[in-house]
Amino acid sequence: MAADIRRLKEKLAIIEDLRGASSVLSWDQETYLPPDGIEARASQLATLERVIHERFTSDEIGELIEEAEAEIQAEVQAEVQAEVRADGPAEAGLEADAGLIRVVRREYDRSTSLPVEHVVRFAETTARAMPAWNRARSESDFQLFRPHLEAIVDLCREKAEAIGYTNEPYDALLDEFEPGMTTADVEREFLDLRSRLVPIVDAIAEKEAPSAEVLHQTFDEVKQWDFGLDVIRDFGFDFDRGRQDHSAHPFTIHFASTDVRITTRVDKLFFSPGFFGTLHAAGHGMYEQGVAGELARTPLAHGSSLGMHESQSRLWENQVGRSRQFWTRYYPDLQALFPAELADVDGESFYRAVNRVQPSLIRVEADEVTYNLHVMLRFELERALITGDLLVKDLPSAWNEKMEAYLGLRPGNDAEGVLQDIHWSMGALGYFPTYSLGTLMSSQIFDTAQKELPDLSEEIGRGHFNHLLGWLQENIYRHGRIYTSQDLLERVTGSKLDSSHWLAYIRSKFGGIYGDLP
Ligand code: ZN
Repeated sequence: MAADIRRLKEKLAIIEDLRGASSVLSWDQETYLPPDGIEARASQLATLERVIHERFTSDEIGELIEEAEAEIQAEVQAEVQAEVRADGPAEAGLEADAGLIRVVRREYDRSTSLPVEHVVRFAETTARAMPAWNRARSESDFQLFRPHLEAIVDLCREKAEAIGYTNEPYDALLDEFEPGMTTADVEREFLDLRSRLVPIVDAIAEKEAPSAEVLHQTFDEVKQWDFGLDVIRDFGFDFDRGRQDHSAHPFTIHFASTDVRITTRVDKLFFSPGFFGTLHAAGHGMYEQGVAGELARTPLAHGSSLGMHESQSRLWENQVGRSRQFWTRYYPDLQALFPAELADVDGESFYRAVNRVQPSLIRVEADEVTYNLHVMLRFELERALITGDLLVKDLPSAWNEKMEAYLGLRPGNDAEGVLQDIHWSMGALGYFPTYSLGTLMSSQIFDTAQKELPDLSEEIGRGHFNHLLGWLQENIYRHGRIYTSQDLLERVTGSKLDSSHWLAYIRSKFGGIYGDLP
């Protein structure tokens, strides 16, 4: 390895350690921190963030990146001329170094293009906006949140101008979460998807829905928790390299690929959130655990993008965990655990209950079929806020109109409408599209897995997941961030993002429950 790249990696390793330490503090804040520790924790985290930012945006790092870029280019040219490619895993070679430089260059340019004054204002504004959003939501009063959101939209516009973009400011915001994707890409994808999805949603609405009553009973919380753990242990979540804890807002966080934390919230009166939340988090967690050891202590030791990450949580949660084969294997176990509650319910009825389609107001409670419509609505609204076509004061009514147009429902108040998600209060405009991109990718990837693992369905029916996990590790997880999500998807599946995979999955699965779908 060339000298400059080695020196750059040494510097980045220290920054990664600091980031890992900061993540431990954040995780603790959301799980075990006693209430009086909040102030002290906030200053500890702020100090670490400042140290990380100063180290990462230093001139020295900038110079090392520049020198490393020249070295990489020379090495790539030498390889091309020699017409040979080094053997061995990508994680140890030139491709990994090239990926590292791509990731670090992008992050460095983004971080240094923002004046420190802007970064501080952004942090202060969102720190005040989050409690305001919480209050506004509990009182269902958008006006309490409105001035904060106006400030955030202004700051996001400023940020986009400072960072730069190809066609429109929203590009710069989206790029933070899904590098390489543009607003135009997302728009094209979503327009096409919506035109093909709405007839399916309409057709399902005409048919008789299976009952989901069985899921709404009193389920002992400890038993729910343990059942979820048993299943993700079968999936292959490695408890020597991770653990699950309780938190109000479920999340996955990585200190190192050898230490990945997931959290879940269990509802005593409703089976689905805790159980499927556990599967979802485990999908995120296994991705982080599967990153190759060679990438440890580098910025490559994470999932490729938020969209690719979401594809993995959704694949395990939905393609696996909501499949008929899965419940053939696990329903008898669940029934044995809750004999009184599930005595009169057969496996097929339970499978239909967990796949009931019902347009609803709340995104996080949405079924697989209608979920993407919730995301499209948010994408269109936040994009319009950034272009200035929509003013924050008009947001609640715009929200309600779109809900009615897309899902046929009108929120009765702001809490079940425009105030339901935390993202805007965090300043995370540009984040929502990754949920749908991930959902679409999950089907495309699972289709390829099924082609390459012909016994996959039958294996899921026996609770054997090692081939699937091994395949995902080999093709996706171990690469970390070496490739962009678009490149990785193409490498794995042979084609660019294509929503027809997901639509075919929806048609076939829900056609099996509801009868033929358009
Ligand atoms: Zn997720």
